Amino acid sequence: MNNKDFDTVVIGGGPSGMICAGFAGRTGKKVLIVEKNYVLGEKLKLTGGGRCNITNAEFDTETFLNNFPNAKKFLYSPFSKFGVQDTFDFFESLGLPLVIEARKRAFPKSQSAQDVIDKLKVFMKSNNVTIKNNTAVISMEQKDGVIKSVTLSSGEKITANNFVLATGGLAAPQTGSTGDGFKFLKKLGHTIDKSEPDIVPLTTDAPWVHSLSGLDWSFMEISFIQENKVKLKKLGKILFTHFGISGPLVLNSAREVKQLLANGPVTASIDLFPDTSETELDKRILKLFEKNTNSKVKNVLPELIFKNICLEILNLSDINMSERIINSINKEERKNLTKKLKNLTFPITGTLGFDHAVSSDGGINPKEVNFNNMTSRLYPNLYLLGDIIHINRPSGGFSLQLCWTTGAVAGKHISTLA
Ligand SMILES: Cc1cc2nc3c(=O)[nH]c(=O)nc-3n(C[C@H](O)[C@H](O)[C@H](O)COP(=O)(O)OP(=O)(O)OC[C@H]3O[C@@H](n4cnc5c(N)ncnc54)[C@H](O)[C@@H]3O)c2cc1C
Repeated sequence: MNNKDFDTVVIGGGPSGMICAGFAGRTGKKVLIVEKNYVLGEKLKLTGGGRCNITNAEFDTETFLNNFPNAKKFLYSPFSKFGVQDTFDFFESLGLPLVIEARKRAFPKSQSAQDVIDKLKVFMKSNNVTIKNNTAVISMEQKDGVIKSVTLSSGEKITANNFVLATGGLAAPQTGSTGDGFKFLKKLGHTIDKSEPDIVPLTTDAPWVHSLSGLDWSFMEISFIQENKVKLKKLGKILFTHFGISGPLVLNSAREVKQLLANGPVTASIDLFPDTSETELDKRILKLFEKNTNSKVKNVLPELIFKNICLEILNLSDINMSERIINSINKEERKNLTKKLKNLTFPITGTLGFDHAVSSDGGINPKEVNFNNMTSRLYPNLYLLGDIIHINRPSGGFSLQLCWTTGAVAGKHISTLA
């Protein structure tokens, strides 16, 4: 080890750092993992609502990689070394079998993110990894293109042959990922693409949307409109919240919507009946009205649509028919209502920000990473993993699979070094 304190120092005890540390230590190399929190895997514990959507069970690599629009070409190499099947095998070998749910999302059979953390700890322990928690790395020192040491918050300097940066991106900074790695990399001369919140809920100032908080509607179409043009259209489930809208469909639209917002105002339009034409819907409403001429609209319309959403729509100022008796509603008013159900608009004001984001759109530019072994193209003894790399992806287990792949490839490479 040429008088170094450790063979390898891993900075950051998230999923990518932990799997890397375990693999790096499997041939007897002395490995240290440094984590600034008291516990490892603070963010991992929150994943999948505490159940951990650990990967996406798309076993065809080509199809899997279609989910990484800005980085597909970089990922063939690491995925040929550690892909989705390897993730299943790895966790199975640790006694944590996985199950597959809707949209190919895979979870531990135990439904517990804490179990994933515990198994990774067992994996590290069986490979003699030393854990230093409650300690932050505050700087990295290099000489002639080689990283020499890191300085810890305790003032201690640790030397090693290899260094692994696994400090995460900027999403959910309350879990420890506060962008320290980006600062180190910038200082070392790397290019850091500016980070924006990604996979994040959208906000609106329309009070009626806020009033629907907690309601989800499993089949609707949402369009994002700018300058009277539909810029993005998606079909699926939307969740209304006290600040705006969320749910996988919205989260996965956030990056594009944010880009639109940079150019001007964006309006969302929801079609509550995407598989029914306006004429068809009007006929259904007419039929319903004809059967209930003496009832209030608000007591009848819930036959077609959730009561809460129905009441909010009927109370909108341009509809205003909540208390009206059906036989008082003329054809034009009815058609107006039909139109509203097919085109419910509200302004999008922004995103909920990093605190509520699943990932960040930004990080070290992938061109500066050698994806054959996950080393920096500037420092051959510096490894870069997980969220620190600027790789965009949707929700559904793709983020964690990137951690398992990049972490395992780096760790295995380190373990084979002389
Ligand atoms: C609420 C939420 C739910 C999510 N759910 C899913 C899901 O179900 N499926 C999925 O695929 N992805 C999910 N993600 C994304 C996933 O959690 C991340 O992609 C993943 O955690 C990134 O792992 P990482 O190892 O790169 O970094 P992180 O998990 O961010 O870990 C980095 C670690 O480095 C430590 N650190 C930072 N700076 C220093 C320093 N200077 N010194 C020492 N330690 C430091 C931090 O404290 C942290 O523990 C979710 C994210 C969030 C926020």
